[in-house]
Amino acid sequence: MTEAVIRALGLVKRYGNFTAVRGVSFDVYRGEVFGLLGPNGAGKTTTMEMIEGLRRPDEGHALVAGYDTRTQQDKVKEAIGVQLQSTSLFDLLTVREMVRIYASFYPKSVPVDPLLEDMILTEKAGDRVKHLSGGQKQRLAIALALVNDPQVVFLDEPTTGLDPQARRTLWDIVLRLKERGKTVVLSTHYMDEAHVLCDRICLMDSGQVIALDTPRSLVRSLQSESAVEFRLAGAEGAEAEEQDRRRRRLQAVAEVKQVQQRGEVFVLYTDALQPTLVDLIAAAEAEAWSVLDLQTRTATLEDVFIHMTGRSLREA
Ligand code: ADP
Repeated sequence: MTEAVIRALGLVKRYGNFTAVRGVSFDVYRGEVFGLLGPNGAGKTTTMEMIEGLRRPDEGHALVAGYDTRTQQDKVKEAIGVQLQSTSLFDLLTVREMVRIYASFYPKSVPVDPLLEDMILTEKAGDRVKHLSGGQKQRLAIALALVNDPQVVFLDEPTTGLDPQARRTLWDIVLRLKERGKTVVLSTHYMDEAHVLCDRICLMDSGQVIALDTPRSLVRSLQSESAVEFRLAGAEGAEAEEQDRRRRRLQAVAEVKQVQQRGEVFVLYTDALQPTLVDLIAAAEAEAWSVLDLQTRTATLEDVFIHMTGRSLREA
């Protein structure tokens, strides 16, 4: 699985004075599900659109199946499928009509009925697009991305706005695409989605790649298995000196590898949950801190993001 089907080489995109993507490079291997994970505004869509050839990079370039997206757009188009935003679907057409029209745009296309079956849309084939649910529209958008039997499929935030069940159905579909040998590039701001679906994850923030690895290795890079999260009432308003002292005290809690703070919320990373908890409570007693909303969890990609940026994926 080491053949690169996509190469992003120093991609830069500026909008006026603002640089949305600042030198992004990575390889995507054939047959993998590759995730761009980051908060809104991180530059995921812009990066994908430069690779798709829909947006021209100001610097750098991208190769898809060996073709340069700046100069060999026709070849690139043959190799890729791009999921449309569901708002660009034609409401008055039926599902089958929409797929047929798309198929007619390409010299080579896959048979319509098996494609609808794969996307769990057989029962909806005669329904007008406007009567589909959000999840069904997303599945139709993926069907359209697949009509030309592309090597690489781009899915931009495919589950945003879907209910949990529709999200799961979509996850199954992505995994099935991988089974069929497609390369999938997927952007998302949901870390659970990235964890479940992606072979490798490119963590993005402020237009840059901040980490790239398998989900497991990313979480392992924290070198801590558990996260202990809590609020300390009044922690935010304290003097800088007091803040420093508190941090040092938390850093000294048994087995703590690392301390992160966002406002009143602290996260301690540890490999040994029990001694850390016991010592944290002892420290809180001694310091007369009031520890609120205490929870423990296994470290996740969210923690990797917090570790790298000091912010949460959710709030960023
Ligand atoms: P993401 O997909 O990670 O949410 P985007 O690539 O959509 O991020 O956007 C990255 C940044 O570039 C954001 O700050 C966004 O507001 C800005 N941006 C995107 N498209 C344009 C545009 N056409 N003109 C100006 N700014 C843009």
